[in-house]
Amino acid sequence: MKSLKENFHKSHIVIIGSGIIGKFNALELRELGFQITLIDPAEQKNSSNAALGLLMGNMYQKRSGRSWDLRKQSIELWPKWIVFLQKFNNELNIKKPLIQLTTNEEKFKKFEKFIYKNNDPNLKILEKDSIIIENINKAFQTKNIKGMISLEDGRINAVSLLRTLDKSLKNKINFIDEEIIKIKKSRNQWFVTTKNNRDIKSDVVILCNSLKTVDLIDNLSHNIKLKPVLGQAVEVAINDEEVDLLTLPKQFNINGKNIIPISKSKLIIGSTDEYSLKPEKNIFEKITNFLDNKPNWLIKGQITKKWFGIRSRPEGEPSPIMKNLGDGLIICTGFYKNGILLAPACSKWVANEIKNYFS
Ligand SMILES: Cc1cc2nc3c(=O)[nH]c(=O)nc-3n(C[C@H](O)[C@H](O)[C@H](O)COP(=O)(O)OP(=O)(O)OC[C@H]3O[C@@H](n4cnc5c(N)ncnc54)[C@H](O)[C@@H]3O)c2cc1C
Repeated sequence: MKSLKENFHKSHIVIIGSGIIGKFNALELRELGFQITLIDPAEQKNSSNAALGLLMGNMYQKRSGRSWDLRKQSIELWPKWIVFLQKFNNELNIKKPLIQLTTNEEKFKKFEKFIYKNNDPNLKILEKDSIIIENINKAFQTKNIKGMISLEDGRINAVSLLRTLDKSLKNKINFIDEEIIKIKKSRNQWFVTTKNNRDIKSDVVILCNSLKTVDLIDNLSHNIKLKPVLGQAVEVAINDEEVDLLTLPKQFNINGKNIIPISKSKLIIGSTDEYSLKPEKNIFEKITNFLDNKPNWLIKGQITKKWFGIRSRPEGEPSPIMKNLGDGLIICTGFYKNGILLAPACSKWVANEIKNYFS
């Protein structure tokens, strides 16, 4: 009898969509020995390239259910993947810790309750008198910020991660930069058709193409609905001798906005939950409005870069959508949030489904 690995070598898997999810699936499956074709006409313009890369795992306050299980698995898998990926880019790393802050007393009480209940030594409350909070209060000219710190959560640079994944896949998989307009199964084989009418044959198809997933499976009558969610980020330059942004933590969140100081006078602010398709014209006003009173240096700040990404959010079911539709068709999409964090756990799930399919 032929070994599984031998079967894997002969089996061809097509992955549609080369965002973080498609790339991670490609890597995981290629390492198992499968022949991979990854297809995407616009792989550098997707939401993955817009992500800030915060990995909010241990901080997640619901410690049960599918969402937590995926986070927990990803938290365990990330260090192994970092070791693997450092062979291709030794600077790739997860910078820790991660800090979540609020000016809302109710929210803070929830942090306290969560930390008290979980008794995790890597999660701690940050009271007003901690040095971190003192520095934040000083910089943002506030008095009422409090929060929690997770020593084992952090941030990976999403663009650097994507380029490192590209390096790790180079010459190991086949990449096609075309749009897929149709998929169909015929005589035990899948056929995916490109816009230029080229048919690519495979044993398995994995759909990682976000909002466009529904276009490809509509005719196969699967009731999946996805709606677009906008996420925006700005890089802001400040001009204030008194403020050194590098005295702040490496990455933190205040009242829902993610903040990443990148130099003494520049920071990135990201906001990820907007139900519209077009980036706001008054983005600066909106994205910097996370405190009752903005500090002067922020009021006078200048946008030096801005970008956005559109993700897909499942309607009528939780995110993400990970479904084995049978017959060698798998969906791994609907990552409107946390796609970077969850990529390792989700590609592991896909790999297990495929191993079962071939065994
Ligand atoms: C501003 C912002 C900040 C974010 N911050 C974080 C964060 O801090 N941490 C975190 O974990 N997540 C974050 N996210 C979310 C994260 O970016 C997403 O969850 C993740 O990128 C989703 O990845 P994906 O591969 O599913 O989709 P995408 O990256 O959108 O990739 C889908 C790909 O499919 C391709 N495609 C579509 N149709 C077809 C077709 N017919 N044929 C071939 N290819 C096709 C597209 O071209 C695209 O490249 C952020 C997102 C934004 C916008």
